[in-house]
Formats: sequence, structure tokens, C-alpha cells
Amino acid sequence: MKLNKAYKFRLEPTIEQEIILNNLVGSARFVWNHMLAISFEMFAKNDFINATNLVNKIMDLKSNPDFAFLKSSSNAVSLQQKVRDLASAWSRFFDPKVHARFKENKKKPKKPKFFKLADGTEIQRRALMPQFKRKADGCDSIRLVQFDKYCRVEGNRIKLPNGIGLVKFRKSQDIIGVIKNVTISKKSGHWYVSFGTERELAEKPVHPATSAIGLDMGISKLITTSNGEYIKPKNSFKANQVKLAKLQRQLSRKVLFSQNWKKHNRKIQKLHHHIANIRHDYLHKITTSISKNHAMIACEDLTVINMSTSASGSVENKGRQVKAKSGLNKSILDQGWGMMIDMLEYKQQWRGGLLIKVNPRYTSQTCSQCQHIAKENRQTQAKFECVKCGHKANADINAARNILSAGHAVLSAEGGCSQGRPMKQKTCDIREKVA
Ligand SMILES: [Zn+2]
Repeated sequence: MKLNKAYKFRLEPTIEQEIILNNLVGSARFVWNHMLAISFEMFAKNDFINATNLVNKIMDLKSNPDFAFLKSSSNAVSLQQKVRDLASAWSRFFDPKVHARFKENKKKPKKPKFFKLADGTEIQRRALMPQFKRKADGCDSIRLVQFDKYCRVEGNRIKLPNGIGLVKFRKSQDIIGVIKNVTISKKSGHWYVSFGTERELAEKPVHPATSAIGLDMGISKLITTSNGEYIKPKNSFKANQVKLAKLQRQLSRKVLFSQNWKKHNRKIQKLHHHIANIRHDYLHKITTSISKNHAMIACEDLTVINMSTSASGSVENKGRQVKAKSGLNKSILDQGWGMMIDMLEYKQQWRGGLLIKVNPRYTSQTCSQCQHIAKENRQTQAKFECVKCGHKANADINAARNILSAGHAVLSAEGGCSQGRPMKQKTCDIREKVA
């Protein structure tokens, strides 16, 4: 069994190293934008856009005397990777499934944007199309593959190509496995290094615990467990919302791309980054602790998207609860339920445990004692009282217990040997240290 894991650390380049790194990520951004412009031309002509077609065009770009800097200050591997990323972005755009999901979750239509082609005609930039990258967005990255060929790790330093040499990083944990690729990224002025590793396991790991737990995810209580425990949410966004709104208002009054605007924009990015870090840290802490203690975890298979759409009103409720639900949407997104389920899934995989996603239907209306299903069982948000057997419980705990038994049912239906597909840790879910 192959195990993929990513490790992310803060990188501490010297001023000289930072200059080279800035040039490298800058060239990569330039190539992305240039290739995107080319692919818009291809799109207009109905040409086939894929990685090979785009990668082949890098050479033309490099031999153009106007872009001589690409020869002196870029990394060939990272440019290729950038263009491959662009190709994947296009293939997502061409994927009807992605569009269906997007349509479900559609927000207010935005003002249409256009791209001017070389012949002067314009094509409309549609939703989900790849976007141009701006330096002002404050997030740039390059990825290097064939790690052994170009890089190596020496203690808490990494040797990087292009004359960068050894760069210190804050090694907060050991890197286990073979390093396959490395991503250098810059976010709100800080540099990070992320190692993508692969490890071959002779046997599937066996989870040290034997217990099983059901999780009910909610708004006021982020998680209620079938054992009757609660985990409170951390509304990192809420606390900073006022501050963020104020900063954004101030930004709108500044001259676009002026020095003041740039300075202010950096402040906003820093705050966004701060919010995301708090949330990430918190989710990692709780998912690690749950995953460590339970071999089987059952949770609802709720696609956050589906819950979010109900706010605009379905046929049944005609948007009566729109206001309450739009508040709910914000909280869902704030807490990142989807992210949390992802984390639980790969952490269970690492430890040899299981995560079972069960159908969320009726989990809140079913009596966990006698299995009687009735809307009337759930009298208020918090209270559950079975109309058949009179079982009284907290509504969330009752739901968590139903989720756990549904998980057991799934397990026995599969003969207790659910293998699951190999999970890859998503790069967006990594951080410096896994608690
Ligand atoms: Zn009952």
C-alpha cells in the first residue's frame, strides 16, 4: 500500500535567496498568464487545449527576445509544472460534472468579463475558466518534480537549484518517506516549502484503538459525538469579520494599484491568511484527536454544497428560511466541514482506521432507541422525544447515535472489510506541524 503525505514548513531564505525566489515565482506567474492568453486564442478557434499542446509552446516563449529574462531567471521544470497546472484548470472547466456542481451552488451573476483576442474580437470569460494571476494577490508558487535530481535536504536546510543553494526551513517534524516533489510558495510575504512524499507500506497499518464513534456536525456545536461530547466551533472568520469589512471598505476608496492600495491590500491578505491559519490549526487538532482515539468514525455524507443551495429556497420551503439559512451557510463555510471530513479521511487512512460516510436522511428524526421515524420526534432544535417509545435525549446526541449505527450497518453490509480507495492528502490541507 502506498501512502502519500505532505509536509509543509516555513522557509527562511536570506535576502539574496529571496531575490532569486521572487524572480522564479515571477517568471512562473508570467508564463501562466501568457499561456492563458494563448489558450484563450486556442479556445476561440476551438483548438484542443491539453498539457502537451501547452508545454510545447513554452519553447516559443523562451526563444522570444522580448522575454529574455525567462532564460536567465526561471526554472524549466517549474515552468512546465505551471503550464500543466493550467492544463488541469482547463480540463476542470471542460468537465460537465464540475459545472453541474457549480450551477447548484450558483450565487448572484457577476458582471461579465471579456478577453480581447489578437484580432480585436472579444470572448466572454466564463465561470470556472482559469484566471489571470496578479502579483497583488500575494500568493505565488513553483513546484519542482524529480526531487533527487535537483534538490536535497541537509538537516534543516534544503538545497534548491538556480543558484539558490541551501535554504533554512523550520523543520518542526521529521520527513518520513521518499520526497517526490517540492513546492515553494509565497503567501502574504512569507515563504513556505512543502514536500510531497510517498511511502510504501508492507502491510496496512492497524489502528491502535478499537472503539467506534458517530459524529453529528452542527452549527452551534461543531461536533456532537455519540458518546455525548461536544466540540465547540472556532469562528475565526466571525471574530475578524468586522475588521475585514472595514479594511475592504478602505481599500475601495484607494486608487487601484497605487502604492497606498498595494500597502492596504497586503494588510487584507495578511488578515485572510491569519484567519485561514487559525481555522486550519483548530481543525487539525480536533481531527487528529478523534482519529487517534477511534478506529471507526461515522459521519454524515453531507456535501456542503447541497446544504448551501437550500438557502435560495427549494420548492417546498420557497425560501422562507432564507435569512436564517444564509447565516447557516456562512457558518458552514466558516467551519469548513468539508475540509474536516477530508482531514478525518486521510488521517484514518494513515492509522489504518475507517471513516464511513452515511446517508444523512432522517438521522435527526429517527429515535436511536426504537428506530421510529417521525418529524414530531424532534420538537425543538435541542430536544428529542420519541412519540412512540418516549425516549428523551438531546437532539444532537440522538443524531450522532443514529449516525454511528448507520455506520455499523454500512460496515456489515460490506462484510466488514471496506478497503476504500487510496487517499492522497490534499496540498491545501497541509500545514507546518500536524498536532
Ligand atoms: Zn423511540
